[in-house]
Amino acid sequence: AKRRGRNTWQRFNPGLARRQQDRVQIESQLRRALDDDEFHLVYQPMVSLHDGRVRGAEALLRWRHRTLGEIMPDNFIGQAEATGDIVRIGAWVIGQACHQICAWRKSGLPIERVSVNVSHRQFLGEELPQIVAAALGKCDLPGSILELEITERVLIEEAPDILATFAALRALGVSLVIDDFGEGYSALNYLRRLPIQGIKLSRQFLQGVPENRSDVAICQAVAGMAKGLGLSVVAEGVETIAQRDFMLDLGIEQGQGFLYSRGLPPLEMTEYLRRPSR
Ligand code: C2E
Ligand code: CA
Ligand code: CA
Repeated sequence: AKRRGRNTWQRFNPGLARRQQDRVQIESQLRRALDDDEFHLVYQPMVSLHDGRVRGAEALLRWRHRTLGEIMPDNFIGQAEATGDIVRIGAWVIGQACHQICAWRKSGLPIERVSVNVSHRQFLGEELPQIVAAALGKCDLPGSILELEITERVLIEEAPDILATFAALRALGVSLVIDDFGEGYSALNYLRRLPIQGIKLSRQFLQGVPENRSDVAICQAVAGMAKGLGLSVVAEGVETIAQRDFMLDLGIEQGQGFLYSRGLPPLEMTEYLRRPSR
């Protein structure tokens, strides 16, 4: 599904043996990397598909490794989840994103919303609401500025206290949306029981739009269901005008993708926010 973004390995690793070596290096260095400040965030604008105006941004993690160079998240998040390091790294991401929102607000660039990806390991732990509350509190930010993207996996692997976690986050004003909607599981019953505000239509289903009939049917079904349930929808992986127009026809009004912008380092995102319109 993730056609791009995967090639990063190739940049620094020609052979399989090398790749395995890199993997071992990555796993053993995740913790050190956090202490050594090797992580940073880029921000991908989320825009109104009508007029391209910025509505928010998704924070995406990057690792600038001292010898391997820039490593994309698909090449280390899985391992960070397996080792449990994702819990600390994820807390750093939330703190860093809030810090950035604060900087934007201070320079007169009020951004409506920043989304942060939260791994199931983080969500099923107990301390997430406290971590979020502390990050917001540090800069005196309203919770409504933060959106957490969780995957369907969180909802399926239901831990006993998941409802309490949802309630605590909602009490802070934070929104919860389902990332990569439709990619993982087909159970929908959680949509009735859990306080979810929106979904992100997986870019997997946008790829074939508007030519592929099954992709089209799935996008239509998701859009209809979201509307009926009162959920917001963001289309991800919008790469072409045709995809944008098709989403608008379905009543999907927000999107993100290379048609608008890739993930931008903070300074470039600041410029993007400054530009009046495009
Ligand atoms: P995701 O949450 O689905 O994030 C969107 C990914 O799609 C990003 O890849 C982004 O660069 C890419 N993308 C955006 N627009 C387009 C487009 O038009 N076409 C295509 N082909 N791709 C597009 P990235 O940054 O490599 O992130 C990959 C995944 O890593 C993310 O997928 C997310 O699951 C995970 N991830 C990223 N940052 C974090 C984080 O801070 N914490 C956790 N737990 N996971 C993260
Ligand atoms: Ca995401
Ligand atoms: Ca996604």
